[in-house]
Amino acid sequence: MSDIFSPDVRKRIMQAVKSTHSQLENTFSANLWRKGARFRRNVASLPGNPDIAIKKYRVVIFIDSCFWHKCESHCKMPKSNTEYWCNKLKRNAIRDKEITNYYVQKGWIIRRIWEHQLKTEFSKTVDDTFIIIEQAKNNLR
Ligand SMILES: [Zn+2]
Repeated sequence: MSDIFSPDVRKRIMQAVKSTHSQLENTFSANLWRKGARFRRNVASLPGNPDIAIKKYRVVIFIDSCFWHKCESHCKMPKSNTEYWCNKLKRNAIRDKEITNYYVQKGWIIRRIWEHQLKTEFSKTVDDTFIIIEQAKNNLR
């Protein structure tokens, strides 16, 4: 079955989905910053373009949207172009694993946060992430 939207329209719909997520990321980052963590965002010089990174402490944090990163509980496959999306999201998931392995092998601290964690336990996720950053800082001392 073909997509009921043209590729251009589909692209805009999917981008809109993405930008909603980054709103949540912004709030998350702002809260983390307010607690005193200092970091860079969307670091293109590191593999996988981490949402949050502190090179000095070797910490990377990814905020994974339930759709794009194929969360088991919330990723709903689009009803049109299902095969395309299925393959695309499968590739994303494989890539996520490769990126995770890259950092683990290098001895970096990597944390992947699900979009749904930010929705359901926002403060706890901020607190936990802050602790991870503090621990990484202390380990290098
Ligand atoms: Zn989810």
